[in-house]
Amino acid sequence: MKKILIIGAGWAGLSAAVQATQRGANVTLIEARNELGGRARSVLLNNHILDNGQHILIGAYKATLDLMSSIGLNPKELLIRKRMSLKDFNDQGFELSGPDSFAPALQFLLATLRCSQWSLKDKYSLLRFAVKWVIRGFKCGQENSVKDICSGVSNRVIETLITPLCLSALNSPIEISSGQIFLRVLRDAMFSGPGSSDFLIPRCDLSELLPKACEKWLLHKGCTIQKGRRIESLIDQLDTLKDAQKPDAIIIACDPSNAARLIKSINPQWAGVVEGIEYTQIASTYIRCTDANFKGLPQPLIMLRSDASNASNASNASNAGEADKGVGIKAPAQFVFDRGYLFKGNLSPGSADSNSGILSFVSSYATLTNEQISSLVMEQARQELGLTKLEHLGTINERRATFCCKPGLVRPGPQISDQLWACGDYVAGPYPSTLEGAVLSGVAVIQKVMGSC
Ligand SMILES: Cc1cc2nc3c(=O)[nH]c(=O)nc-3n(C[C@H](O)[C@H](O)[C@H](O)COP(=O)(O)OP(=O)(O)OC[C@H]3O[C@@H](n4cnc5c(N)ncnc54)[C@H](O)[C@@H]3O)c2cc1C
Repeated sequence: MKKILIIGAGWAGLSAAVQATQRGANVTLIEARNELGGRARSVLLNNHILDNGQHILIGAYKATLDLMSSIGLNPKELLIRKRMSLKDFNDQGFELSGPDSFAPALQFLLATLRCSQWSLKDKYSLLRFAVKWVIRGFKCGQENSVKDICSGVSNRVIETLITPLCLSALNSPIEISSGQIFLRVLRDAMFSGPGSSDFLIPRCDLSELLPKACEKWLLHKGCTIQKGRRIESLIDQLDTLKDAQKPDAIIIACDPSNAARLIKSINPQWAGVVEGIEYTQIASTYIRCTDANFKGLPQPLIMLRSDASNASNASNASNAGEADKGVGIKAPAQFVFDRGYLFKGNLSPGSADSNSGILSFVSSYATLTNEQISSLVMEQARQELGLTKLEHLGTINERRATFCCKPGLVRPGPQISDQLWACGDYVAGPYPSTLEGAVLSGVAVIQKVMGSC
């Protein structure tokens, strides 16, 4: 039986631990925090169990859905499935249309033809874009940005479709986002069969969605889990072990900055690549609405009229100083989720009630402080949703929420040295910084590790 030590229990480390256990390895999982899940976990905020960041999955997240099923979870119960929709509070905007059995590409064609916000010229520009990239196999130059690959697409379509899609998938504006990675996400969403483009939104806390069940499953299978233990130095860690206890392989499943710190003295070149990675911020603002006549949003997820990507874009893209970043932003949030809607019927005791009236606003790439985001989002909720009695529960501002998926970004490979490997959303792979990217990298690293040791 191979002994595998995994450091870091985010979704990548959990995915690797499950894969390795399923293949008969003896797994030890070490996590710095007292709970598993990494960036995608629940947190206690102002006496409410909320998520470290509101997350959304899509139907094409096959590895993630398979992982959930393989440990006995039922994704259909835990995730609400909704047609891909970028509609606003007034029910205006793009939404895939047609029967569920239709392939997403056909739904996309119908939605484009039916979209009332767009002129014929807008629709033609989008369809030309789609046909062009289908013919080219969704492949473009590594140096191309999303903006580059959208040349010829009308401004209206860029504003109302491409920009929100790019922000939600890559968490950065079109000017600085990799065209190739964007096309890959589009391809998988549109051409992986019916339902692949659907939004899958958690109906439970993020820790309930995978980490807690994973922990239970791993312990049941005999895996050793050490929580609340931060590894400061790999060399010291190995020195303390007797030969018989030494693992056959170590997998670093930490976030990029901790991975680089642990690996620097062992493989400076690998660590150097990781240190070159830049990050983008996501803020999640939780607000409870106590208006007596507020019965919830019409949909669990609504797009907002954000000006964050336009206002912050020029200053950030041109490496403006900290003080200039985010200047002029009035409406930082791009999406709002209704947790009351999502948690209706959730079986965990009290969780439907405790989420009732709670809205979660997502501000991607906002580059503002907590205080600025909190007050601007409160104002956005009043102006755009017409809500009055609002209680601000808190804003969680993750400065290193995702790696910045720039054109030509070089990502490190999974092998660091003979017995030392890495997995995580940032390790070379087809996806941007997502749950699916993290889970896939956990699967991929175990295939390599088990083949080599
Ligand atoms: C606010 C926010 C919103 C997001 N929204 C979405 C979304 O809607 N859809 C989507 O698909 N993705 C989303 N993401 C991205 C997604 O959460 C990440 O891509 C994914 O969770 C990364 O998982 P990971 O395992 O690679 O890394 P992490 O989750 O960072 O896990 C690394 C783990 O290693 C541990 N660790 C670090 N150093 C040490 C050490 N020295 N010793 C022991 N343990 C250590 C950490 O504590 C952590 O638990 C979002 C992220 C954020 C922050």
